[in-house]
Parts: sequence; structure tokens; C-alpha cells
Amino acid sequence: MAKQVVTRTYIASIRNQQQVSDDLDSLGFSASILWNVGRWVCDREWSEVEHIPGHNELTTYLKSHERYDDLHSQSSQRVLQELAEAFNGWHGKRRNRDTRANPPKYRKHNDEHPRSTVTFKAAGFKLDTKYERIRLSKGSNLKEYWSDFILCKYQTQPDVDLSTVESVQQVRAVWTGDEWELHVVCKVEIEVSEAPGENAVGVDLGINNFVALAYEDGHSELYPLNCLKQDDYYFSKRIARCDDSDSEQATRLNQKKSARRTHYFHTLSKHIVQRCVDEGVGTIVVGDLSGIREDEENDESKNWGRHGNLDLHSWAFDRFTSMLEYKAEMEGITVEQVSERDTSKSCSCCGRKRDANRVERGLYVCDECGTVANADVNGAENIRQKVSPSLACDGGDRSNGWLAQPSVYLFDSESGCFAPRE
Ligand SMILES: [Zn+2]
Repeated sequence: MAKQVVTRTYIASIRNQQQVSDDLDSLGFSASILWNVGRWVCDREWSEVEHIPGHNELTTYLKSHERYDDLHSQSSQRVLQELAEAFNGWHGKRRNRDTRANPPKYRKHNDEHPRSTVTFKAAGFKLDTKYERIRLSKGSNLKEYWSDFILCKYQTQPDVDLSTVESVQQVRAVWTGDEWELHVVCKVEIEVSEAPGENAVGVDLGINNFVALAYEDGHSELYPLNCLKQDDYYFSKRIARCDDSDSEQATRLNQKKSARRTHYFHTLSKHIVQRCVDEGVGTIVVGDLSGIREDEENDESKNWGRHGNLDLHSWAFDRFTSMLEYKAEMEGITVEQVSERDTSKSCSCCGRKRDANRVERGLYVCDECGTVANADVNGAENIRQKVSPSLACDGGDRSNGWLAQPSVYLFDSESGCFAPRE
């Protein structure tokens, strides 16, 4: 065991949601508007001098813009920094000849602005752990004579105590699709174990099988979302029966739904890390999900939230990934993110890449080498190979069909654990 200072993001719910949601909404809308103003400046610069301004340039251009003062100056800076990072990411992909890459989108749907995440750095928030309150600064434009800040009463998970952390770096207000929550980024000292082994496991995240795992020795596991889907269905029906979607009862049901979902993600990430310990895994390889996030901001998006029968936003994947990271870190396991590019199109046995290989009913069939694999496991195996290139299949004998027959783990609500399906 060794001690190490690491960064942790703790999610806190807001207990006085109704009192603060209007104020948080206006900050979230302002962040989208500022993003769009910055986006427009980038467009203009590009068409005039073929140059896209970086973060500092953007801030210099825009700090006297009237919209800049809708948020605390550090929060506005962060919005422009995110925009610059998004452009950088796009440039990087273009350099790698990724023709599918799109520049960052405007944050607007018809006439509506989405609620963007608002980040508060050191000067923009004040944490009071005694009374469990966080004070968030508004920009000077949104200050009113009786209040120039938003006072959120927060609640963390029972195992998190913000008064014991080394320091709090920043606070982010995040819209989950239902309500606002706070992400508190802290420095924390933890005890770290020795890595359980040197194997790598590939993780593919999706909406049907929330997680597919491909281990180095070739065996694989699936974690479908059945339990969460049933839960969602049950709560959605009860919420629909409420007279008023803003009523106290509906709010309570929504909170319960999201608490159960969080609990599910915690249990699942814990289970997976334990599986990795058992299997001697030292590296967990996860597909980078920024592609999904971009799609969601896109107007013609395949919106994961609305089209699937499960209302899962990309933040659910982010959140799950960070839970996995924390839990893995404590066991001495590293989590690496790699590009998901082509991981669903390529055959993990022979590397053959073609769209036609993707076939119905969740199976991937390769006409080159004859591999038949569960499509999500094939994706997970491709992700794993990006870090650990050894082939899991032996190249010849495919009679056992290992890729096509992963073990399926289901959540048992009685024991609260994941267990292999009989
Ligand atoms: Zn093949």
C-alpha cells in the first residue's frame, strides 16, 4: 500500500433544486450563448484569415463582449477554453485523416439554447461543509440587488465527506436532463494497492449492453441494461400519472429514479473492478466517448436519450467511466481511454474493415475469416487491442465460438449484486 494524492470528482445532488433551478438555468443558457458567440468568431476568423483563434486569443477578443459578463469571469473563460479544446480535437482528427470529424457545433436547437455545464473555479465558489452549502457566483450582468450568488444546499453520497478532502479545485453545475447537479472536483489522498496483474481488458460501452468486456485470454462478458430499463419503465409510468410534472411528487419520483441509477452504476463499476482483480488485469481500456457527445450536440443527432427506450444521456457514460476510474485506481489498475474509431467496423480477428460486416441481432460476422462474434464483444476486443495488440483468438480454431458466447451478468435486485445468468 502506498499513499497518493489524486483528483476526484464527487457528484452532489442539490436539495433546494426548486429555489435555485431558475438561476442555474440562466447561467446554463448564458454559457451556451457565449459558446455560440465564440463559435461565430472562430467562423469569421477562419473565413477571413484561415486561422482559428486559440483559447487566449478568444478570451482577449471576447472579454469586453457584453455576454462575457453573464457569467463569473473564470466561468466564461472556461467556456471559451472548452471551445478551443473542441477545435483542437477536431484539428487532430483531421490531421489523422478522420473524414467523419466535424468542427464543434453551435449549441442551439431551433430557438432554444441547451443548458450548458457551468464551471466555477477558485474565485467563483465558496464551499461551506458545516452547513453543506455551496455558493456559486453569477456574472455581473445577472446579479440582482438582493443576490449576487446562488446558494445551493448539497448532498453527497454517504461515503463522501467533503470536509476531509485536501482541497477543492472547482465546482461544475451540470444539467442531467432532469435536474441540476454539482460535480465537485477535489484533491484527495488515497491508499493505492499494487496492480493485480499485467493483463488488459477492453471495455465497450453502449445502450443495449451497457458494458461489454473482452479479456486477454479471449473470454468475454456482457452486462445488459435490463434491470435499469425495467426500473425506468416503472418510474416513467408513475411520473406520467402525476397531475403535474413539476409537482413535488413528480420531483420526488425523478430523484428516486436517478438515485437508483447512480446506485446501479456504482454497483456495476465495483463489480467490474473486482472481476479485473480476479483476472489479474492491470489496464482497463475504455473507448473515448467524445464522439457520442458531439453527436448529441448535433442537430441531426442520433440522440441517444430520446431514440433508445432508455433515457440515457452521454453524461451517464462519462459518469460511469469516472466511477470505474476511481475504483480501479485504488486497486492499482490504470484506465486508458482510446479512440473508438472503427472499433465496431473491424473484425477483431483478422482486422478486415467493412460496414457490411455489421449484421443484425447483435452479431458481427466476418466474411474474410469466418469469425462470428457478439458485436459489442468484437468492439471491446478491438478497443483492448489498441493498447495490448496480442490477438485473443488463436487464428485457427473457432469451433468453440468464444467471441459469440460471452458470459452474461445480470443484476439481481434481491441480493443487489451482479451474477452470471444461469
Ligand atoms: Zn475476420
